[in-house]
Order: sequence, then C-alpha cells, then structure tokens
Amino acid sequence: MIEISGLTKRYGDKVAVDDLSFTVRPGQVTGFLGPNGAGKSTTMRLIVGLDRPTAGSAHVDGVRYDEHPAPLCAVGALLEAGSVHNGRSAYHHVLALAQTHGIPAARVDDVLAMVGLDSAARRRAGGFSLGMGQRLGIAAALVADPAVVILDEPVNGLDPDGVLWMRTLLKQLAAQGRTVLVSSHLMSEMAMTAEHLVIIGRGRLIADTTVEELISEAGVGDVIVRSPDATDLHDHLVRVGAAVTSEHPGLLRVSGFSADQIGDLACRQGLAVHELTPQRATLEQAYMELTQESVEFQNASAA
Ligand code: ADP
Repeated sequence: MIEISGLTKRYGDKVAVDDLSFTVRPGQVTGFLGPNGAGKSTTMRLIVGLDRPTAGSAHVDGVRYDEHPAPLCAVGALLEAGSVHNGRSAYHHVLALAQTHGIPAARVDDVLAMVGLDSAARRRAGGFSLGMGQRLGIAAALVADPAVVILDEPVNGLDPDGVLWMRTLLKQLAAQGRTVLVSSHLMSEMAMTAEHLVIIGRGRLIADTTVEELISEAGVGDVIVRSPDATDLHDHLVRVGAAVTSEHPGLLRVSGFSADQIGDLACRQGLAVHELTPQRATLEQAYMELTQESVEFQNASAA
C-alpha cells in the first residue's frame, strides 16, 4: 500500500506537486494519469526517495522508502526509461542489484526469463533497443519480489507486442496481490490496464476514481431516440428546451434530457417511441474534460 499525504514539491517558484493526497491499494492496477508536466514523475521520485518533499509524506507500507531495511524488497521501480544502459551485460546489471540484497543468482536468471531477455542476458545492455531496455528495467524492479511496483510510462517506446506483454504483466502482478502504480499520459492505455485511476493536473489531484465511475460521472450524454412520430417529437422536445438533431428520418439525437425524461415527455404527448439509447461519454472525453484546464494553462504558459 502506498499512502501519499499532503505531498508537495517545489523547484524554486515552480510547484511540481501541490498538496497531493491519495492511497494506492494492493491487488489492482492503479493508473496514475495526467497531461505531460502534471507532476507524475516527480511524485514517483518522491515515493522512492530520489527527491525530498517540500512538505507532506509518501509512505510505503507505513514507512518512508528510505526507512525500509531492504528497500528493493519493499518497492520495485522503473522510473527513467533507459537509465540502466551501461557497459554491463543485462545479467550483470541485475546481478549487481541482487547482490546488494543477498538475492541468489538463480533468481536473476528467472526474472530475465520472465521479461523475455533470457537469450540476450549476456549482451551488453548499452546496445539494447528502448523496448529491451524497458524489459531490463522491469527485471531489475522485480528481482527482489517486491510487494509494491511503481512504473513510470512503461509502455513508452514499446512495439505493439511489447505493449500487450506489459499490460498482461501489470495485471498479473496485481493479481498476485501486489500494489501496482503505473503512470501514463494516455487515458486509452490506462483504460486497457487499470481498474483504479488517480488523475492529476498541475500537481493537484483531479480525480481518485474507478474507470466505471469516471464514465458515469462524465454527465448525461446524448440520447438516441427512434420514433415513428419523430417529427412531432422533435418539435415538442425543442419547445421544452432540448437540443435535437436528426441525421436520418425517424431517428433523433437529443441532448439536455435523460432517456427517462424523453420517454415520459413522449408518453404525455401520446407519441410512440421504439428506442431510447443513452450514449455513454467515452473515457477519453471524460479525461479530456477533467484535464482541459490544466492543459490550457500549460499551453498558455508555453506561449
Ligand atoms: P509528468 O511526469 O507528469 O510529465 P513531471 O513530474 O516530470 O511531470 O514534472 C512536473 C513539473 O515539474 C513540470 O513542470 C516540470 O518541468 C517540473 N520539474 C520536474 N523536475 C524538475 C526539476 N528537477 N527542476 C525544476 N522543475 C522540475
């Protein structure tokens, strides 16, 4: 479990993380979403003690990361992609980490096989592609079998096979009871992977919710109405204040009223209705609406 409380990080005048509080629970993938520059990486760096908060706290299983006697066993993190590149082989990179925690060499072979790098284990990590580097980073993060896994934009730079592999792996890690926090700036990616969503913008919490709740809170979408009395129904709905369009005879797209309200209005007018279909807001629309303000702010300040 990760508990973030009043977490704040300032760099000079810039507030990167602003009084952020949320909890990441075990057994599910939590997506950490926000536009670029929202403060996701900074928050993750604060969780693993790579930076000190200006105020507030980030606790992993009740204590700060640096208070854990064996931090690699508490938290496995993949933060800056590609930061593992060096002259060492993949095997020696992970082995060096394992040795700091008394982890047997056999486990290194196991995690490298798990991420699909067994045949490349003896190759120099410096020559790896971005995708292979990501896999190596995951192997390093998992070598100590941590209860909490934190990954910053792990699908960036992966090919479609790699993306699919990453999604499956994240779900497996959660199904094993681990706490999994994974960041992305793409709602479409998180919708495929995460059950829970923490959305931030300009360093502040915007939403702490589930995928399902986010869709239902996105407000009443349009309602598609099919009616043999479409012309009369159209006129009546416009009279009572609905916005109505019609692309095909007999079919109306109505906004401003719920499906129930439209059905009741039609009934009272004695007009037949053969179909009433609420259109759900897509996750992408809901996300755009939520984060619009912080994106506009960014664009304005960049101009
Ligand atoms: P995200 O990961 O959501 O894209 P970041 O956490 O990388 O966002 O950045 C949040 C904000 O903090 C950005 O405006 C970024 O420019 C700023 N920032 C991050 N690290 C530093 C730093 N070391 N010094 C100054 N500003 C920083």
